[in-house]
Amino acid sequence: MRRLRLAIVGLTACSGCQLSLLNCEDELPELLKRFDFHFFPMACSPALLDDEYDAALVEGCVSMPHERELLEELRRRSGYLVALGTCAVFGGVAALRNGEDREQLRRHVYDDNQVAVETCDPQPLASVVAVDAGVTGCPPEKEELLRLLAGLIRGALPVGIDYPVCTECRMRENLCLLTERNMLCLGILTEGGCGARCPGLSVPCEGCRGPLVEANLTEALEIYAQKSFDRATVLGRLRRFCPEWQS
Ligand code: SF4
Ligand code: SF4
Repeated sequence: MRRLRLAIVGLTACSGCQLSLLNCEDELPELLKRFDFHFFPMACSPALLDDEYDAALVEGCVSMPHERELLEELRRRSGYLVALGTCAVFGGVAALRNGEDREQLRRHVYDDNQVAVETCDPQPLASVVAVDAGVTGCPPEKEELLRLLAGLIRGALPVGIDYPVCTECRMRENLCLLTERNMLCLGILTEGGCGARCPGLSVPCEGCRGPLVEANLTEALEIYAQKSFDRATVLGRLRRFCPEWQS
């Protein structure tokens, strides 16, 4: 059977999503039999973008001109282009300060040191090229990555998860941190798929998987208000991983 040819690339990101893939250590031998990781600069050298790809898996968001060019090149060369992780799907933490003056941000980070890097507000991949599918998560769960790869072998793309973190949390019979501990937990509005990992450890959901497609913000804000969390506080927390949450 022909091995599928992949390009795996990180743009503005922490590399955590690519690392999650490399951490599938038990599965890597099998994956190498089925996939040709032809362009994977983080893991393989030399990395030459010189071929056509069955799929490109792209982590991170677009914040520099050369990233836009690379993404467009990947789009031209790839059958499928998959956004890998919350940064790629929604903008993620890199987009936290979108809308603020970039020169002021540069001075805040680099002081008066000269930095010859042109940047723009970090954008999710779909604002630059057509994206065939996204796997959210910061980073995505290992099982989601393996399901994505297994699907590619069959020519199938992952479908989004249409239930919130709360669903998995209740199935695990966790104590509800919002209703019983008065903690600001964002599981109501956040796409599931993580198995409610954080609430299961008594840590409130931070919304790192981004918004549930049919999230009912109005209803949720009423529930939060009953627990004394005002609209600005809730939206401020939600926007840490997805700047598109509207006020
Ligand atoms: S989604 Fe999270 S883990 Fe992945 S690159 Fe962005 S910050 Fe890192
Ligand atoms: S702890 Fe959070 S994720 Fe779990 S049920 Fe309560 S609000 Fe939902």
